[in-house]
Amino acid sequence: MAIADIERRLTALGANDAHVQRVLRHWVQDRPLTEGRRKLEHFLPQAVRDALPALMDELHGLTRLLESHPGEDGSARLLVGLRDGQTVESVLLPRDGLCVSSQVGCAVGCQFCMTGRDGLLRQVTSAEIVAQVALARRQRAVKKVVFMGMGEPSHNLDAVLEAIQLLGTAGNIGHKNLVFSTVGDPRAFERLSDGPVKPALALSLHTTKPALRRELLPRAPRLTPRELVEAGERYARETGYPIQYQWTLLDGVNDGEDELDGIVELLKGKYGVLNMIPYNSVPTLPFVRPDWDKARDIARRLHERGVLTKLRDSAGQDVEGGCGQLRARSLDLPRE
Ligand code: SF4
Repeated sequence: MAIADIERRLTALGANDAHVQRVLRHWVQDRPLTEGRRKLEHFLPQAVRDALPALMDELHGLTRLLESHPGEDGSARLLVGLRDGQTVESVLLPRDGLCVSSQVGCAVGCQFCMTGRDGLLRQVTSAEIVAQVALARRQRAVKKVVFMGMGEPSHNLDAVLEAIQLLGTAGNIGHKNLVFSTVGDPRAFERLSDGPVKPALALSLHTTKPALRRELLPRAPRLTPRELVEAGERYARETGYPIQYQWTLLDGVNDGEDELDGIVELLKGKYGVLNMIPYNSVPTLPFVRPDWDKARDIARRLHERGVLTKLRDSAGQDVEGGCGQLRARSLDLPRE
C-alpha cells in the first residue's frame, strides 16, 4: 500500500485535503481526531467516519513488532514483521531518533554489510516506511527519522520521497530531522532538490579512493568520491543543512595515512561533518573493527587538520552488531 492509495481511498469517501491530513495525523502521530468538545461529525464526513476503524486496523497492521533488543546506550533494535511475512529492522536511537528500513535486502552489496548479502528481496512501500514510525511512536516519542536501515533509499526513491513528504507534514517531523542516507545516486540529488520537504543528506563515502570504493560498494552508482562530495556540497549550500559524510572505519582497509590525507584534501572547508563509525565485527565477514583508541586518534588528527570529525558508535552496538543481523538471525540465514 502506498500513501497515495490511502489518500485516494479517503477522497473517494468524500474527504477533502484537510480531512485526509487529519486522518494521517491520527495514524502517524496517534493524535485524536477531534479537538476540544466538538464532536467527530464536525470534523469528518460520515462515510469516512464509518470506514475509519477498519482503515486504522489495516494501517496499524502494516507492521508488527516481533522482537525488541534494548542496548545499553538507550537505543533498541526492533525486528519488524510486514504483512507478507517479510521482516525489516528499525532502530530506536538515543534522543528520540528512529532509523527505518526502505528495502527488504539491498542490491548495492556493500562488502561489510549483512543486508547486502541477500541482494534485494523487495521494496518497502511508502505506507510501510511510515508505519515503522507509527509503530515506534507507540513505544516512545520520535522526533527524528534517519533512512539508514536496511536498503538503499535511492533505489526505492518514489516510496521514500512519498514517506518523507508525509513525515515532514502530517508526521510533524522537522525537515532537517529527516535524514536521507545514500551511497550517492544522481537521480536522488535531482529529486531531493525538487521536493517540497527537503531532508538533510547523509552520504556514504567510506574511502577517498575510487577503485577501493568500487570494490567495497560494488553496485553503487559509478560516482567518484570527489563527484559525490561536489554533489553533496551543492545540496548543502542549497538547503542550508550540512552534509553528513559517513565513514565505516575498517581496520587496515580505510584507516591509513593515505586516506587521512585524501579526506583532508576532499573535505577541508566543505559544509559538512565526517561521521566515523568503527565497523561492528561480524564473525564471518573478513573485516575487523579498529581499536577504539586508534579510531579516536584518527578523528582527533582529522579535526586538527581542519575536518569537522565525529567519532560515533552505531546504536545498539552491544546488542547485535550491524544492520541486517537481527533479520538474518530470525531467519537463520547463513551469515557468510
Ligand atoms: Fe545496502 Fe546500505 Fe548495506 Fe550497502 S550498507 S548493502 S547500501 S544496506
